[in-house]
Amino acid sequence: MANKTQEVGGIHFPFPFTPYSIQKDFMAELYQVLEAGKIGIFESPTGTVISLICGALSWLRDFEQKKHQEEARLLETGTIPLSDGTEQPPSLSSSCKETPDTPRPAGEPDWVTQFVQKKEERDLVDRLKEEQVRRKKREERLQQIRHSAQLKYAARRAVSVSAGAAEVALRGPYVSVLFFSLRVDEDEDDPEEEHVTKIYYCSRTHSQLAQFVREVQRSPFGKDTRLVSLGSRQNLCINEDVKTLGSAQLINDRCMEMQRSKHGKKSKAEEEKPKRRRQEHRAACPFYSYEQLHLLRDQVLVGVKDIEQLVALGKEARACPYYGSRFAIPAAQLVVLPYQMLLHAATRRAAGIRLQGQVVLIDEAHNLVDTITGIHSAEVSGAQLCQAHSQLLQYMERYGKRLKAKNLMYIKQLLYLLEKFVTVLGGNIKQNPNTQSLSQTGTELKTINDFLFESQIDNINLFKLFGFTERYGTVLAASREQPRLAGFQHFLQSLQPAVTKTPVTPVEEGEAGVPRLASPLMHIESFLAALTTANQDGRVILSRQGSLSQSSLKFLLLNPAVHFPVREPEPVSDFREQLLACAGVEAERVVEFSCGHVIPPENILPLVVCSGPSSQQLEFTYQKRELPQMMDETGRILCNLCTVVPGGVVCFFPSYEYQRQVYAHWDKSGLLARLAVRKKIFQEPKRANQVEQVLMEYSRCIKCCGQAGGTVTGALLLSVVGGKMSEGINFSDNLGRCVVMVGMPYPNIKSPELQEKMAYLDQTLPRGPGQPPPGKALVENLCMKAVNQSIGRAIRHQKDFASIVLLDQRYARPSILGKLPAWIRDRVEVKATFGLAFAAMRKGPRDPQARPLIPVVSM
Ligand code: SF4
Repeated sequence: MANKTQEVGGIHFPFPFTPYSIQKDFMAELYQVLEAGKIGIFESPTGTVISLICGALSWLRDFEQKKHQEEARLLETGTIPLSDGTEQPPSLSSSCKETPDTPRPAGEPDWVTQFVQKKEERDLVDRLKEEQVRRKKREERLQQIRHSAQLKYAARRAVSVSAGAAEVALRGPYVSVLFFSLRVDEDEDDPEEEHVTKIYYCSRTHSQLAQFVREVQRSPFGKDTRLVSLGSRQNLCINEDVKTLGSAQLINDRCMEMQRSKHGKKSKAEEEKPKRRRQEHRAACPFYSYEQLHLLRDQVLVGVKDIEQLVALGKEARACPYYGSRFAIPAAQLVVLPYQMLLHAATRRAAGIRLQGQVVLIDEAHNLVDTITGIHSAEVSGAQLCQAHSQLLQYMERYGKRLKAKNLMYIKQLLYLLEKFVTVLGGNIKQNPNTQSLSQTGTELKTINDFLFESQIDNINLFKLFGFTERYGTVLAASREQPRLAGFQHFLQSLQPAVTKTPVTPVEEGEAGVPRLASPLMHIESFLAALTTANQDGRVILSRQGSLSQSSLKFLLLNPAVHFPVREPEPVSDFREQLLACAGVEAERVVEFSCGHVIPPENILPLVVCSGPSSQQLEFTYQKRELPQMMDETGRILCNLCTVVPGGVVCFFPSYEYQRQVYAHWDKSGLLARLAVRKKIFQEPKRANQVEQVLMEYSRCIKCCGQAGGTVTGALLLSVVGGKMSEGINFSDNLGRCVVMVGMPYPNIKSPELQEKMAYLDQTLPRGPGQPPPGKALVENLCMKAVNQSIGRAIRHQKDFASIVLLDQRYARPSILGKLPAWIRDRVEVKATFGLAFAAMRKGPRDPQARPLIPVVSM
């Protein structure tokens, strides 16, 4: 791709084409935020991922250059320049991890201070020299690889895999967050590789990450950037015996177990021989060898690769891409990883991710609060409690005498805890949870301390116990008293089919429909971890259903900021307040930047419609929305819109139930038949595996209607907010010429979880002047986040055009309008009557080539 270097504010930004002014502004603002070490919240529509890449990598290029110049000067003179032109000892080098202004103990003699300073300077110079040597060696290695004909061939093959990959889909509106100076919690030194300053880019799904990597490949930085894509073992494992286990947990366990094996390498013949199950457990993975992994690490760093390309490379090099990619982290300039890996401290540590002093880009940051809450909320069912107790008891009875006293004590504590958890639910651990009916049913919400007290486990040190459960595999397998133990977890798994006391085995369905067996102790471990949260930051929900097996204990995280790795990143406000403010980030450090859309203003028509064709006020509250006149009025509006809108119309309803009700009503009243005159009607399926089929038929219908030229001008898709069509699916061009939002999708305010969260925010966050209470603001934010996600499905590129019709007069409130993305908000028109709205629609954004449509207003 062509490289059109742009100069903005004296900074050179290589760019693949001539950028739009908003892309230039975006890069310049991003550069400034990074340079100042601030936190930036960037709100932007489609087409700015490339600006993110070019802006951030331009900054990194300049940062590295300055750092190298500084180091060279320091090594030459032993001093570094200050901004005022004076010289000072080298303790401020960006590569130095020590605090520069370490206070000296009071009363320390001058000669001691000088000695310490001199020693620090010498140490720093030595360290820089070592770093330089390592860097030089690495560059030589990578250079060799680049010039190796054999590896070039490998790289070409990898690229051909990418070329066959799906077309790049355009991105939805997103919010990116960038931050510096993160919590210092991962600072152990790697004796072999320096951790260079790098950019971590994280997103929610693997497809979004793959798309980002493809954009980097196409950018002017695609050739020289050292990029590593991180994924799970499930995505990266190339050992077919392990991969076929299907479940992430089983793959992780088997892999770890293989690494613990003392059998070392096997002969090739042995590898190829069919193995018996018992032998498999003991064999080391043939793809985990130090030399192969280090070779793969270097290959990973040469040329930008996505997960599929990593797997292909790993297979070719016969080295594990999961570990190979992790080995490459220290030297990488850009690390691409999923949310979970960044937001979970233990996962971060295990992957070797160090955030101190690094740049983090978080895509779609409006999902952060929910993601952190989801990752750190844990639920255990009565069945799982009983099953874990049964397995643990069997383990203790079998191996108790051989265990170390401390481990035995922890196991006994766990058993006691599980028993008490069952008791607090109203059950008995000794009976079958499926046949135990509970006398008291309902939902109860408790603070963590109240729950521990009521369960009578307040005297147990949960931190130690959690630490034990986290390490149990290695602790027990390493026991010299029991060398034949292949690991606690393995033992528990081996018990699963034999457990007869608790026949309910938790079975999850994987993405590919492969059943996954989840160890109940994994759930218990997560629940115990959650209980170590500070009392005010979480709650425990006791849900007592008919039987013990259906009942559950659920931890609800109220303060996601405790797990957000920053200390001192529309609606963005919940994220800004719940994460940044609660994490102690000062307001001055946060920079907000909202850039316009790349599409011209005439290509978008956002309308708030306050009343329908028969003057029915549009307010879809729970009380009013089921009235027949409201459902009729909605049908009439759609009938009218369908006469003037070409191609596809996507209509979002607040819930599946309401969509079903409206559909049944229209069917009875004949409105469905009237709608079908103009558009073929499709409904969002409830099952995920039917979505593709429906979408294919929907798009085929629009294409055929466009060519056939009959009365049917396209298709109408009835969808649900938060459903399968409201995220990740793009209704570009003719697939979505109009998006209609019926009512406001407020969450269920009666849910105990939401009530507790609202109460928590009201107590902990200050209420701004003229602002609603923080709890109420949360509800509005949740609603508008869902709306924005749905309406953002249309208008996917600069030549696209569409109308966005918001049916509910409540959208006209300034506080609600303010929560629409800026590029929509600035163009929104509030229409008091349907006539005005319809007139605007007739003139609205439409393809000038389209055949004339004859509008008919239905009353
Ligand atoms: S080392 Fe890699 S290839 Fe081997 S089992 Fe583990 S994840 Fe799979």
